[in-house]
Amino acid sequence: MTSDPGSLAGAVALVTGGGTGIGRSVAARLAADGATVTICGRTEATLAEAVDAIRAATPEARVQPVVADVTDEAAVAHAVDAAARFGDAPLGIVVANAGGSESMGPITQLDVAAWDRTLAVNLTGTMLLLKHGGAALVAGGGGAFVAVSSLASTVSHPWFGAYGPAKAGINMLCRQAADELGPSEVRVNTVCPGLIRTDLVQPIIDDPGSSASYRD
Ligand code: NAP
Repeated sequence: MTSDPGSLAGAVALVTGGGTGIGRSVAARLAADGATVTICGRTEATLAEAVDAIRAATPEARVQPVVADVTDEAAVAHAVDAAARFGDAPLGIVVANAGGSESMGPITQLDVAAWDRTLAVNLTGTMLLLKHGGAALVAGGGGAFVAVSSLASTVSHPWFGAYGPAKAGINMLCRQAADELGPSEVRVNTVCPGLIRTDLVQPIIDDPGSSASYRD
């Protein structure tokens, strides 16, 4: 990880799913560059471990954990509020990173409850963060909202179930939000990672068929 210490001094950020994987690295980078960072997720112990690791790497880091499920509107509102209160400036950076998949498998055999849960964490979670985090960014005079989508939002893979459709929904949701919030100085973007070695994708990396499809 390269860093530019001080470049984000005074900035106030919220990263969902910041306890592990991509979100934890994003939070570590923001903290190393001087931002005040709130990370949220559902698992208190994971968040605490991430806070310790970020502080170990950057002793002056200002980082706090907030337990919140991004599919729960009240919890998202609380996380946004906690992130804004933690900083000395208005909330300026929101990263909607929490996501995952519970619905891998043939489309003819998809479990509807697992489909719903996958749409909820990815698409509804991003919408709720846009609703509450976007409002905070506007109220603070502007900022940046970044949603973590996926290569799977634009490239189809067999047996990906609800994941690709949910991520494609994030792309369109963020285009719509960019049109709405741009005039209020809020930039809204998605990033679409390819395969990044985290716990989430270990089953894909381990499965030769899925892995080959992704690499192709
Ligand atoms: P990860 O380590 O599993 O990270 C997912 C994080 O989201 C976890 O910290 C998890 O913490 C949190 N989370 C899950 N459900 C949540 C919920 N309902 N509310 C709040 N937090 C929740 O996997 P990752 O690879 O870093 O994934 C991060 C993002 O990148 C995801 O959106 C994923 O779809 C996307 N992505 C990953 C790859 C890749 O190759 N790794 C590629 C493209 C896109 P808790 O379980 O404790 O809540």
